[in-house]
Amino acid sequence: MEIARFLADLKTQFQGEIFTDEPMRKHTTWKIGGKADVLVRPSSEEDLQAVFRCANRYEIPYYVIGKGSNLLVKDGGIRGVVIEIAAEGFQEISVGENGVVVAGAGVSMAKLAKETLNHNLSGLGWSAGIPGSLGGAVMMNAGAYGYHMASYVTKINLVEYIGTRRQISKAEADFSYRHSGLMGKPWVVTSVELALTPVADVSDEIQQMKDWLKERAAKQPLDYPSAGSVFKNPEGSHAGFLVEQSGCRGMQVGEAQVSTKHGNFIVNLGKATACDVLSLIEKVQERVLQNSGHKLELEVRILGE
Ligand SMILES: Cc1cc2nc3c(=O)[nH]c(=O)nc-3n(C[C@H](O)[C@H](O)[C@H](O)COP(=O)(O)OP(=O)(O)OC[C@H]3O[C@@H](n4cnc5c(N)ncnc54)[C@H](O)[C@@H]3O)c2cc1C
Repeated sequence: MEIARFLADLKTQFQGEIFTDEPMRKHTTWKIGGKADVLVRPSSEEDLQAVFRCANRYEIPYYVIGKGSNLLVKDGGIRGVVIEIAAEGFQEISVGENGVVVAGAGVSMAKLAKETLNHNLSGLGWSAGIPGSLGGAVMMNAGAYGYHMASYVTKINLVEYIGTRRQISKAEADFSYRHSGLMGKPWVVTSVELALTPVADVSDEIQQMKDWLKERAAKQPLDYPSAGSVFKNPEGSHAGFLVEQSGCRGMQVGEAQVSTKHGNFIVNLGKATACDVLSLIEKVQERVLQNSGHKLELEVRILGE
């Protein structure tokens, strides 16, 4: 890999921030992960195109992240370039006619939920407690309390790794439970069009959002670093319930622990490594399989080596 030449070339055509040997624990809510060779924070779509141009020229692999709230980065880190969609250029929220909202992929779900409600637009109150970006939420088809992103997305704007801009429809995104057809595709979500419902009064929905946030604080271990739910819910059951029923609550490997508050969370007690988390995941999966016959699938995404 020609990281040095890639960097030299990129610096001549890139306005955003560039970090080298960047610890990924600084960019994940689990606060775990080895170093990325390079992490860039593009300031605009043009920057994004410049990253792809250079990465393709020097054959540097690339990975896209949002707020890192659904990611486990392995202890060996990431060879290549991590593209973090977080800068100002991806933060705009524009409210149009009839409940149409176009927002940058870097906008936090908390901000988007609150701002759209402030514009008397009903729809996203359930997502205010999801600590991810809009881009990540669309990729993952994030959801809670019976709602999910797929119900609100109408169009997705992308930059493809070959550098071209493209817009796809909701149908092309092929959403299903905690999954979109965008996963693994060579493109980056830059902004998303959503259809919300204009209403005269959002006060009930704002109250409901506050209640949901309180419920999260009561039921989830928010005082420890985590990545939210580790496992997907198997059809007809709840992963957290199965984990607890299998006696895994409080189970620990190194400083990674199955939360004593919520069975589907693995918390970092301080210095957990990705190795600790992966080995704990395996133990939990084995126990749940033996106890209930369910093979738990991962909701969190794993990156690195
Ligand atoms: C305390 C806590 C509570 C949570 N609660 C919920 C919940 O209720 N419901 C829920 O669904 N999730 C929940 N999560 C998980 C997580 O917040 C969501 O999955 C979120 O949508 C991930 O967004 P992100 O920006 O952090 O994405 P990341 O974790 O950075 O990335 C996730 C995936 O999306 C891809 N990606 C991110 N941004 C882009 C982009 N712009 N273009 C292309 N690909 C991109 C990445 O490559 C990766 O594959 C929770 C997490 C925590 C820590």
